[in-house]
Amino acid sequence: MNVRQQIDPSTTHGLDLSEFSRGLYINGAWHASRSGRVIAVTDPSTGKIIASVPDAALEDAAAAVAAASAAAEGWRETAPRKRSEILRRCFDLMVERSEMLAKLISLENGKALRDARGEVAYAAEFFRWNAEEAVRISGEFGRAPAGTNRIIVDYEPIGVCVLITPWNFPAAMATRKIAPALAAGCTVILKPASETPLTAYALAALYEEAGVPPGVVNVLTTSTPGPLTAWMLADPTVRKLSFTGSTGVGRALLAEAAKNVISCSMELGGNAPFVVFDDADLQAALDGAMVAKMRNAGEACTAANRLYVQSGIYDAFAEGLRERMANLKVGAGTDDATECGPMITRKAVQKIDRLVEDATSRGARVLCGGTVGKGEGFFYPPTVLADVSPEAEMAHEEIFGPVAPLYRFETESEAIARANDTEYGLAAYIFTRDVARGLRVASRIEAGMIALNRGLVSDPAAPFGGVKQSGLGREGGQHHGIAEFMEAKYIATSF
Ligand code: NAD
Repeated sequence: MNVRQQIDPSTTHGLDLSEFSRGLYINGAWHASRSGRVIAVTDPSTGKIIASVPDAALEDAAAAVAAASAAAEGWRETAPRKRSEILRRCFDLMVERSEMLAKLISLENGKALRDARGEVAYAAEFFRWNAEEAVRISGEFGRAPAGTNRIIVDYEPIGVCVLITPWNFPAAMATRKIAPALAAGCTVILKPASETPLTAYALAALYEEAGVPPGVVNVLTTSTPGPLTAWMLADPTVRKLSFTGSTGVGRALLAEAAKNVISCSMELGGNAPFVVFDDADLQAALDGAMVAKMRNAGEACTAANRLYVQSGIYDAFAEGLRERMANLKVGAGTDDATECGPMITRKAVQKIDRLVEDATSRGARVLCGGTVGKGEGFFYPPTVLADVSPEAEMAHEEIFGPVAPLYRFETESEAIARANDTEYGLAAYIFTRDVARGLRVASRIEAGMIALNRGLVSDPAAPFGGVKQSGLGREGGQHHGIAEFMEAKYIATSF
């Protein structure tokens, strides 16, 4: 039985998934793959196959690069106002279709509908924000210090961009790249994660309707991303790689991009510390922890991965968190009542299970959860672990699941040292009523983003990104995100 024959229409929650699996999206049209192969898409809450998408061959990647290259000049020369209006229309269409998109994300990714709705709103906002940015790109003009000439600096689109995105935010990770790239005047090839391709294709149809010309955005799915990406990066018209995913794959792609000196933006893994001082507002810290840990059931690069709690508040925080985590409703993401959906794959559940077993074997106490349930879907229960050893593997690795490990600390300097004891530096959370201490600790923690008395950092209007091995460059923010897709051109002249 082939993949298409295995699909049971009753498993698709009223969505016609054939609409989102029409083919590879190249040069404004839907194409079958030249490989003839397909990639199966699974509902993580049941483990059942719900759709299949084409598995692109090298020739398909070549066609996508050719289309993006051919469209580059026309798009670059399109008036910024016109580009802005098209991006604004993308925003409007996303908002109009937000419920359908949220359902689709829940179905293929597993996240709770309320998280999926939040993601669609966040993802759409990148179009509105960059529609506004597209008409505010300006250069510089000045007199050289020697007085001999004038300096003109213009900002130009960098060229054809390859965009690679993960499965955990299938809409937002794509729009956070596509919107600034298009605003800057670049054309793109998006390679979404194979686990969640349907959202990327649903969005491709929407761009077309919004008036994005053929070839400006191309989308292809593949089970062999390594060779296809290497091939695309070797094409001389490709000048940018923007990648979101794991640090391991990011390192390999940086090495690949070095061969042709391709500009890279890298949004990589995290290992966020969540620091609670004795003087914190306990309820606010618990609210913050639930958001920082449980948005997307812990499958977020910004997820609180190590919760450091000062001795005086430790027991009350541990009990409060246990109570909230134990009462979460676990279920299929598409069920409106669900608060914690399944993990993306069985392999992800096995990894979490291994990390929890390692922590308990080193003395961690299980306050709730901690054991994989039986059943079809890829579920892991909300779990709180107390007194976790700093030597535990989960102190150094992304858990990427609904597990909150608690570590006790005594002093401010100890909290800072332990928060910084990682190769990652994406997000960090601090809870204290002492604002001066909050800002002091924020300035000493090595992370690209700090949430002070909040459980959420992401905002299209703020620069998102990490330091150390969490990445290079920023997405969103005033000028930051768009600047990643532009090159400065300096013209010296005298008059
Ligand atoms: P991943 O690195 O396995 O895959 C990410 C993407 O890269 C996918 O599209 C995948 O198909 C592709 N890929 C894999 N191998 C490749 C190769 N050799 N060449 C080219 N492409 C390749 O990551 P994932 O499991 O999909 O996502 C989870 C990871 O992403 C976590 O580490 C998480 O922290 C990170 N993440 C980071 C951010 C951020 O903004 N910093 C946001 C979301 C997720």
